[in-house]
Amino acid sequence: MQLRVLRGRLGPSRMPCRLPGAVILDGSVGYNGTNRTDDVVAIQSSLNSVLAAMGGPGEALAEDGIAGPKTQNAILRFQEHWVPWRDSKIEPDKGTLHALNRAVGSSLAAAVPVMATAGPTPVGAPKPPKPPAAPYFTFEDKQAIMQAGIRLGMVRTVWLPAAYRAALSAVRIATRANAHAQRLPAPKVAREDEDRLAFLLIAKHFKLHEKDAAAARAGAQRVETMIRRMCITLVNRVGKPIPGIAPAPEIFVSLWRTPAKVAGHPGYTYLGGAWQRHKMNDKIQGADLSGKVSPDYLDRIYLTPVFDQSHDDFRSHILVHELAHFIGDMAGGWTLDDLGYANEPAYLTNSSKQRLHNADAYACLVREAGFGTTRAALGAQVKASVLGKGPVVHLPEQPVLPAFASGTPDPYAYPSGGV
Ligand SMILES: [Zn+2]
Repeated sequence: MQLRVLRGRLGPSRMPCRLPGAVILDGSVGYNGTNRTDDVVAIQSSLNSVLAAMGGPGEALAEDGIAGPKTQNAILRFQEHWVPWRDSKIEPDKGTLHALNRAVGSSLAAAVPVMATAGPTPVGAPKPPKPPAAPYFTFEDKQAIMQAGIRLGMVRTVWLPAAYRAALSAVRIATRANAHAQRLPAPKVAREDEDRLAFLLIAKHFKLHEKDAAAARAGAQRVETMIRRMCITLVNRVGKPIPGIAPAPEIFVSLWRTPAKVAGHPGYTYLGGAWQRHKMNDKIQGADLSGKVSPDYLDRIYLTPVFDQSHDDFRSHILVHELAHFIGDMAGGWTLDDLGYANEPAYLTNSSKQRLHNADAYACLVREAGFGTTRAALGAQVKASVLGKGPVVHLPEQPVLPAFASGTPDPYAYPSGGV
């Protein structure tokens, strides 16, 4: 393996002129990178020096200066071991490069004792080389990185599929509610008419009334559109991949540290999510956030370590809440915003229009449709009465596929630059 070659080079007579562990780049390397030949060779050489167990490529890369799929995959594999983002790109003086330089140091450290213990140092011999610098990540960091990986695994396998099923239930309800609303003002329907009951469920979350027919029609229409968009966004991201259709890019990023600006928040969607990226015409792909521990791309949803500190219903509520921000509204020009969390007094005084713009109202609705009133309240950390006057849902509705076919290409998916 490449490491053996490197160890040979480290012999006393031939010190290498350029250790791979001290790479300085002129431009970026990897997916969508500048990929100058010198830079690519330096990265390929460095990656080859990292032990497979520490995120190295395992099978040595050709050091040919071409950033092809093998090199990009090796960068991705390295990032999976060392940093909390996955863009298959190494940029000058940024986190992945720092981590790579440290990883090479650590891989060398694993090799160095073999030479260092060869015998006692003779008097007058040159001083032994300094021990390599401490790893870039502390033990606590590595634990946090592992925890972030576990969190993402749980999101993929447990909470997101559950959120999707809840969203499907909500679509069914929203569709019936909208059908009822579009008939308003209408002659009396039966008290227990199912479309009407569905409308009453939507109405309590968004403060709609049959008597204000125009607002009820517009509101129910809006809710149905939003929940459908949530389902479309999720459909290619949960469950089994659909043959012939590329899986949609990962939208959840699991952070191993909490950025200072969002301290205390279990999750966040930067600048209102994907629709903002659309509006910015792809000119801005990431943005600085003070204290950031990853680039904050607009097409991702971030979960912080705070996410782990509550019960499953709360975590499920957070996912749906962030999804609401994420889907936003491209056509209408507004996002689903934070106009009061359900466990804050401001939520109770939200007007109907504010509720229709409030991510937490959608989270409460979707969870009530999927899991019943008690668990929706538990997730929102409120009493059931806070959800509003209206029908109480005791049991989850049987999820029914919405009208669009499973496998519909996601119109809101963007090339994410990796993953
Ligand atoms: Zn929010």
